[in-house]
Amino acid sequence: MAGYTPMIQQYLSVKEEAKDAFLFFRLGDFYEMFFDDAINAARELEITLTGREGGGDAKIPMCGVPYHSAENYISRLIEKGYKVAICEQVEDPAAAKGVVRREIVRIITPGTVMESKSLEGKTNNFIAAATTAGGMMGLAACDLSTGELYVTSFPDSMDALVDELNVYTPSEVVGDEHLLDKLRSADAWNRQAPLTTRGPIALERLAAQFGSEQVEKLSAARQQAVSVLTGYLEETQKRSLAHVRTISAYEPNQFMILDHYTRRNLELTETVRDRSKKGSLLWLLDRTGTSMGARLLRRWIDKPLLSKTAIERRLDAVETLYRDLILREDFRAELTPIYDLERLVGRVAYGNANGRDLNALKSSLRRIPALTQLCRSSGSKVLMELVEGSDDCSDLADMIDTVLVDEPPVSIREGGLIRVGYDDYLDQLREASVNGKKWLAELERTERELTGIKSLKIGFNKVFGYYLEVSKANLSMLPEGRYERKQTLANAERFVTPELKEKERLILEAEDKMIDLEYARFIELRDHLALHLHRLQKAAAIIAELDVYQSFATVSAERRFVRPQITEGFDLNVEEGRHPVVEAMMDGAPFIANDTRLRTEEQRILLITGPNMAGKSTYMRQTALISVMAQIGCFVPAKSAVIPLIDRIFTRIGAADDLIGGQSTFMVEMKDIQIMTEKATANSLVIIDELGRGTSTGEGMAIAQAVIEFVHHHIGCKALVSTHFHELAHLEDTLPSLSNARMAVEESGDDVTFLRKLVPGAASTSYGIYCAQLAGLPGSIIERAYELLEETEDASPSISAPKTPEPAPKRQATPEPPAIAAEQAAQYGAVVQLSMFEESAAAADSAKA
Ligand code: ADP
Repeated sequence: MAGYTPMIQQYLSVKEEAKDAFLFFRLGDFYEMFFDDAINAARELEITLTGREGGGDAKIPMCGVPYHSAENYISRLIEKGYKVAICEQVEDPAAAKGVVRREIVRIITPGTVMESKSLEGKTNNFIAAATTAGGMMGLAACDLSTGELYVTSFPDSMDALVDELNVYTPSEVVGDEHLLDKLRSADAWNRQAPLTTRGPIALERLAAQFGSEQVEKLSAARQQAVSVLTGYLEETQKRSLAHVRTISAYEPNQFMILDHYTRRNLELTETVRDRSKKGSLLWLLDRTGTSMGARLLRRWIDKPLLSKTAIERRLDAVETLYRDLILREDFRAELTPIYDLERLVGRVAYGNANGRDLNALKSSLRRIPALTQLCRSSGSKVLMELVEGSDDCSDLADMIDTVLVDEPPVSIREGGLIRVGYDDYLDQLREASVNGKKWLAELERTERELTGIKSLKIGFNKVFGYYLEVSKANLSMLPEGRYERKQTLANAERFVTPELKEKERLILEAEDKMIDLEYARFIELRDHLALHLHRLQKAAAIIAELDVYQSFATVSAERRFVRPQITEGFDLNVEEGRHPVVEAMMDGAPFIANDTRLRTEEQRILLITGPNMAGKSTYMRQTALISVMAQIGCFVPAKSAVIPLIDRIFTRIGAADDLIGGQSTFMVEMKDIQIMTEKATANSLVIIDELGRGTSTGEGMAIAQAVIEFVHHHIGCKALVSTHFHELAHLEDTLPSLSNARMAVEESGDDVTFLRKLVPGAASTSYGIYCAQLAGLPGSIIERAYELLEETEDASPSISAPKTPEPAPKRQATPEPPAIAAEQAAQYGAVVQLSMFEESAAAADSAKA
């Protein structure tokens, strides 16, 4: 370090504090980066890399971004998963001896961005902390932009940790080194989020943030998690986080557990194919009018409830709005204009809300009385209770209204913020400035008269202040000695007079004072609001909840959903159930409804056979989705539904995740099944599509049978299993709680029509060869395949015959093009080789088109 200039030395010592971040080092109007930071930033941001002498042997690599457009560059780095440390000059350069003192004022990270540019309105941006203490794992997750903080704990298990972390899809994780190491190599963890090792902070500091009462209530593991998270937030944000004061603690088993694969398979918040929201359950259910509502809806979908009372409370509220179109529309009309209160409140607390933010806050608060009134007159007990004794924050809205003008500028440092009549001194200064300007106009008029120069004008620039300007052509008309020459331009001269200079001083002084005073008044207002954060956060929470009820009711009414009956029993009984998303994507074609009956004794497990594309996986997913929808408090797509509380849904569907970690399909399937055998309880719902594929037929079938027997004998839960081994149908004879079902197809001649109807009994063939034929494989291959099939079937000894055998499609002697409708053939033929997943996605896509 010795050879470097003092400034580079300063840079290097600051950089020590932010080794894992890009250091934005403020130099005048630029943030500069040096050394490796410069090389990497130049690459990532596509900006020019230069060099600078710094006292060392070689030039120091350097690049920079202008101060005023830094936010764009920062957000690009954050999006790529980097951290950015902002280093500012913290003393007045004029007063500095030697190098101006500089400090890091904030470290912006993917999990702690507050800038609206980097935040998506409808999704939370969580940062999580994962720790272990006393044999338990603790997990805390905070959205700094809204101030939410959740914490939970569970017995030490990486699977449980990954499942719970995935609920939050955090953009950053901090925690114990060894835990983060394991996370890096966990199969189900595939996020790009930076993982940072940090330890806990002193208990006193934690208590200072949350109050000792809240902190003491937490178990060791939870305290540890909150502690690590708080420490990291303090370290990076370097300011008080007044809006993060409430710790919401919960038990994982308060909610339905959905592992990462199940969330993906059921496409709860994004589709498998292109990870878009469109086509997911969230997309279907989202008719929220506010960002807060949209975020809450997502959190509800992520955490279906397990308490009958809590679910019914939600259903009650939804029902009121469902039954009353006018009420629903009134709610929507009041909700839609409300801004993102939670994030506005976050900005107030954080100290970066501007005048426009406060006005948005005001206009949002102004909607509360009407919403409260709607709740009160709704006749719904839940809605009435929700707003009972609630606070409409009108004093705060009034205060903003009194202080701020209606259309303040973006900047809070250039005046134009404060209403006339709010501050006497400010008004006097304004008058002085206005009078001064009037005086200038008057001066211009009299000077023109006096000199006879019509084009004489008064102007202003930052260097010379106010001046009189006369064009070269008219210079001769000026009287001698009256004006002092100040500046010469190409075709004009600029002059001042002592009188003008005196007025200028008064005007500029008044303007400076005005700007300072406006700023001070604005900060006062913002600080005052910051004292009431808790009230504002409460109001925001109520609005979000109302919005989700409204959203559920709107979708449910439009899509003919019905209120499910929630039971604490075992039996699930759905009459004419539909897949809500497939139905919504169908564009007119009718969705065929199917019943689902899963009962204690006679039929806990349904073994579903039928050809590809018959609708098996749609049916199985629809059952899972109906359970999820019921347990988040939404109505469900069915004619009627009795839904028992499901504690956990397991799905093993298709090949979607097989790409992860280069594992074989079969290995992934077996791992999923292993977790299921370990974790499923009698109250779980298990869904396995195409059980036992990916290995040889003999083995696949053997494993499938063994798994089904295990689920039947040892778990005793509800299960839907599809298989292409129609030979497994005999299990119905030996397993009393298992029934065969198949997707009906209608055949006439060579034509197969999918009826999409679930009927009792097993299919007698999986139609694989028929499929191949439809796909247009050469006739000789088809012929040969049928021959071989006959041979193996004759050879296989002991597979019991299905109870209600279905005739196999007729063989065709001569391979003619299949005589099915061209459209269907095209669809069938094109998708037949794809995995289960891709099939439905392809179908959904063609429905979209
Ligand atoms: P399988 O799992 O038997 O191969 P899928 O469940 O993937 O079949 O269904 C294939 C396609 O058939 C779906 O993408 C959907 O477009 C359509 N489909 C499935 N079930 C129904 C239904 N009940 N009513 C109407 N169309 C359906």
